Amino acid sequence: MSLKLHLQISGPLENNVIILQDETSGEGILFDPSFDLHDTLEIIDTEKITITSILFTHGHFDHFAGLTYLLTRLDSAPRVGLHPSDLPLWRQGGGASQFRIPIEPPAEPNLLLEHGQRLRIGIHTLEVRHTPGHSPGSVIFYIPAIQTAIVGDLIFYRGVGRTDLDGGSFESLRHSIETQVFTLPADTILVPGHGRNTSVTEEMRYNPYVGASAD
Ligand SMILES: [Zn+2]
Ligand SMILES: [Zn+2]
Repeated sequence: MSLKLHLQISGPLENNVIILQDETSGEGILFDPSFDLHDTLEIIDTEKITITSILFTHGHFDHFAGLTYLLTRLDSAPRVGLHPSDLPLWRQGGGASQFRIPIEPPAEPNLLLEHGQRLRIGIHTLEVRHTPGHSPGSVIFYIPAIQTAIVGDLIFYRGVGRTDLDGGSFESLRHSIETQVFTLPADTILVPGHGRNTSVTEEMRYNPYVGASAD
């Protein structure tokens, strides 16, 4: 198997920063660069990964806090991808002012993600699924080759993302999980934006908000 996932925990909100590495082509995709990228940059250097894209599960500040710095540290000029429904959130600092954290919005994304879009890494593809609820432009990335989905703050191990922030909606979140996550193969591993990994089966059975035990 040539695709490999690296996960680093970063910053005060313990964000998961993820690198998807294709060992064959040397390409890598980086997801949600948060505050502290020391470990992330070390992996990129040691493994000699060329980052071709930086993709965002959504536009909250803790998921993009490291982007500006990261772009100065990479030799490659990666594409920066976000769903357009989170552009307003991004432009006003990703909700950081609600937490009284001073954050300058980074440069605008130059790749607008859309539902059903397929992105390439080496000979592999990943699929973008639009999953509003936690924020209007939340997406997940499904990587069939390693039976894994990167799900941001949509769903966590026995939890779901908060829906009380700007643009959040619990009804949309529940709908997104039921139609876009629970329809993935049951053994799909879910890598959330914070906390431990889980799986589709695990959450269908035990998630108290949306699984069989809900209602
Ligand atoms: Zn968030
Ligand atoms: Zn988050």
